[in-house]
Amino acid sequence: MFDVVVIGGGVVGACILRTLTRYDLKVCLVEKQADVSMGASRANSGVVHAGYDAMPGTLKAKFNVEGNRLMPVWAKELNVKYKNNGSLVVAFCDEDLETLHDLKARGEKNGVPGLEIISKERLFELEPNICKTAVGALYAPTGGIVCPYGLTVAAIGNAMDNGAGLLTNFEVASVDRTADGFTLISTNGQTVQARLVINAAGYNAGRVASAFGDDTVKIGGRKGEYILLDRESEGFVTRTLFCTPSKKGKGVLVLPTVDGNILLGPTATEVSDEDTTTTKDGLEEIITKAKTVCDNIPLYNAITSFSGIRAYSDRHDFIIEESAFIKGLINVAGIESPGLTSAPAIAEYVVNQLIARHFELKENKNYSPYREKDSFFMGLCDEDKNTLIKKNPQFGRIVCRCEQITEGEIVRAIHQNPPATTVDGVKRRLRAGMGRCQGGFCQPYITQILARELNKDLTEIEKSGLKSNLIVGDTK
Ligand SMILES: Cc1cc2nc3c(=O)[nH]c(=O)nc-3n(C[C@H](O)[C@H](O)[C@H](O)COP(=O)(O)OP(=O)(O)OC[C@H]3O[C@@H](n4cnc5c(N)ncnc54)[C@H](O)[C@@H]3O)c2cc1C
Repeated sequence: MFDVVVIGGGVVGACILRTLTRYDLKVCLVEKQADVSMGASRANSGVVHAGYDAMPGTLKAKFNVEGNRLMPVWAKELNVKYKNNGSLVVAFCDEDLETLHDLKARGEKNGVPGLEIISKERLFELEPNICKTAVGALYAPTGGIVCPYGLTVAAIGNAMDNGAGLLTNFEVASVDRTADGFTLISTNGQTVQARLVINAAGYNAGRVASAFGDDTVKIGGRKGEYILLDRESEGFVTRTLFCTPSKKGKGVLVLPTVDGNILLGPTATEVSDEDTTTTKDGLEEIITKAKTVCDNIPLYNAITSFSGIRAYSDRHDFIIEESAFIKGLINVAGIESPGLTSAPAIAEYVVNQLIARHFELKENKNYSPYREKDSFFMGLCDEDKNTLIKKNPQFGRIVCRCEQITEGEIVRAIHQNPPATTVDGVKRRLRAGMGRCQGGFCQPYITQILARELNKDLTEIEKSGLKSNLIVGDTK
């Protein structure tokens, strides 16, 4: 029997799990997919929003500003890539400029520090590739970028190092009430018992709440598609560029990622399922809109496209509360943007306010907030590289040529918490397969390494769970 079980291995569930392990509690996270960070936390803009967007008084505003403040601390402790690059909301007409003043006032009400309206001359100094039709911008120096799946994986890994359990391929399908809590039953018949449950199931949070008997959580989906440019475009823009929201819509973002790529998007299309394919129309819309923000976008460097589903609630705000109908069920649902930014602050609130009503929170004396630093081989000096190769020759074999990832690093990711068990799991932890060739060269080698290290047959290794096996049998 666990004290607390978290349903959903996205960034919200991950941050809650990590915060729970600060206390003397028996905790576990269950995730329906083969790996963590497979929902919205896999595919988003990675922006650490400053906090001028949300309406004052909403949970979004409160947790955004607090999350923005906590993010650098969490990123440092967990060794996650984060950059305080600042953001700009760009105006292209007088009406836009008026909106910027409203946004600035809203941000100041929310407690965002340092907001400033800057002239077009200063804007072009900061970002020379912005379209020459720009007339000014709102500058938010506290805006940042973070690796969303890096944060999710590291928070769960740190929680596991501190004693938390993780069950992947566990899709909560039904729930039984017990004398002192709940039994969660998965689609494949596994069970887990919990005194208290956190529902952080993202797009499925409504369905999960219903399985407990709470039908009040209503979640809709809005797909956002992206185009990613290769790291050869690094420096094209250095800050996060937003269009001024107007009657014509929100426009798209042009921004750098923490790894030096350039990201264009997202679109916003209502959806009724979790289909994350990209479309011709969506990609064309991104290109058209991005060209209204920046001149000469190096589109020839496009290496891939992807999409994620925003899970929004019918309350148009986050739902973070104990169910009014089911005691012991805490719904953390409708966490659309700025959910990534807010996740550390949401976690603090859920654990220190909501969970604290059920348990006396005694400090876990063995808790460490730090995650062991993954020293990326290519970041080392020649002397350190040679020492490492002498100790373990696997570090002398480059598997992913584009991103220069060694066999030693892949083996480490397979055996680290949370273990990478799929080809995409390795990719999200190390960037192996994220470069120009998108895994064309390294995927077969990574498949072989996974099979060897996990003691499985090659035909059992999946790209990304859900029966996405890469090899089906012999041809000769
Ligand atoms: C296009 C887009 C752009 C965004 N941009 C930003 C941004 O720039 N900045 C920002 O702050 N936020 C952004 N967001 C929002 C942010 O990504 C989300 O708020 C955040 O990822 C939500 O995390 P989550 O853990 O609630 O959900 P998810 O990451 O979706 O995780 C939910 C998890 O629950 C699992 N699950 C579902 N059902 C079950 C079940 N029955 N049993 C077990 N497990 C289950 C899923 O597999 C999934 O892993 C964006 C979102 C999108 C889609």
